[in-house]
This record gives sequence, structure tokens and C-alpha cells, in this order.
Amino acid sequence: MELIFATHNKNKLKEVRSLMPSPIELISLDEINFMDEIEETASTIEGNALLKAKTIFEKTGKNCFADDSGLLVDALNGAPGVYSARYAGEQKNDQDNMQKLLQELSNISNRNAHFKTVMALIIDGKEHVFEGTVHGKIIHEKKGSNGFGYDPIFMPDGYDQTFAQLSSEIKNTISHRANALKKLIHFLKAN
Ligand code: IMP
Repeated sequence: MELIFATHNKNKLKEVRSLMPSPIELISLDEINFMDEIEETASTIEGNALLKAKTIFEKTGKNCFADDSGLLVDALNGAPGVYSARYAGEQKNDQDNMQKLLQELSNISNRNAHFKTVMALIIDGKEHVFEGTVHGKIIHEKKGSNGFGYDPIFMPDGYDQTFAQLSSEIKNTISHRANALKKLIHFLKAN
């Protein structure tokens, strides 16, 4: 079965492709010549995942899925959440975002947070939603240089290293994206 993954992100594509069972042929937006950036205008992570999947389904009529993620900090009532990429402004800069988050939490002892991914799948016109999370803590200073986004300040529960210190193999086994993807793959295998 062919399945379009609504992303332009080559790293995500590679990661998801390596985990997909072989009967599923994963096709990227570049491969179908869809070069536009889909604007993430919804007010929730789930809303943005569905918006991206629906946009591609309406354009192609083909089975597809899209993902959207964010970091939710307990002491900030779930911020930055759906606005994680542009927390410190439209420049979408990882360093600025981390700086702002560390500042917001400077006098706060509750450092609990979780990453959340929603994957929205459209098969034969029907929508299915899968959610993955990983819980942990926001530490006080950046550590490590792997990964992207908030990785240097997020320490997952059960580890004494941040996502930016852990190997990509470990991160890709325990991450929010991996957990959502496992559910999506389980669904595809069962249907
Ligand atoms: P996206 O929806 O996967 O593009 O994620 C939106 C934003 O959430 C990213 O730009 C990052 O700021 C943050 N984010 C999502 N996943 C991760 C992760 O695995 N590590 C660090 N930051 C992440």
C-alpha cells in the first residue's frame, strides 16, 4: 500500500521509513511534487496534524498521514504546546525558544514537562488519530548537542541525560514521535 507522509522534513522521513513495515511504501511530499508549506493555523497539536493530513488528502485523494508535536510544561499550563516552534517569535529559533523557556521557569521548582505528538492518518477517506508522549523534566541549563528543538534542556524520566546527550537510537525508541508511530503502525498492521 502507498502512504503519503505529509512532511518536507528529510530526517523525519528517514526515521519513519526505517520503522514502517515493508508492505507500506512511504511517499514524501517532495516525491509527489507538493512543494508548498502547509500553514499550521489550528490552535491545538491535534488540529494541526489533521489540517495537514486533510490538505494532502484533498489534493491527492490518496491515503496519507501527518504529524504535529510540541512541548507542554506543567507549571506553564501546557505552554509552549502548539506554539513550540515559534515560542520566542516567528524566526522559529531553537536557541531563542530555549532561552525564553529557561527564563520563564527561572523561579519555578516544578520542572515537569512532556513532549506530545499527534499523528493524523486518513485511510480511504476516514480519519484516525494516534497520540504519543514522553514525560520528563526541564533542566536548568543546556546539555548535549544532538537532536533539535528543546532537546538540550529536556531530560526524559528514567535517564540522567538530556535528549541532546542520548544517542538518536535511544531517543527514537522512547520519544513521543516513536510512541505515536508505534500506534499508527499497529493500526496499519491490524487493518
Ligand atoms: P513538529 O511539529 O514536529 O515540527 O514540532 C514542533 C516544535 O516542537 C519543534 O519545532 C520543536 O521546537 C518542538 N519539538 C518537537 N519534537 C521535538 C523533539 O523531539 N525534541 C525537541 N523539540 C521538539
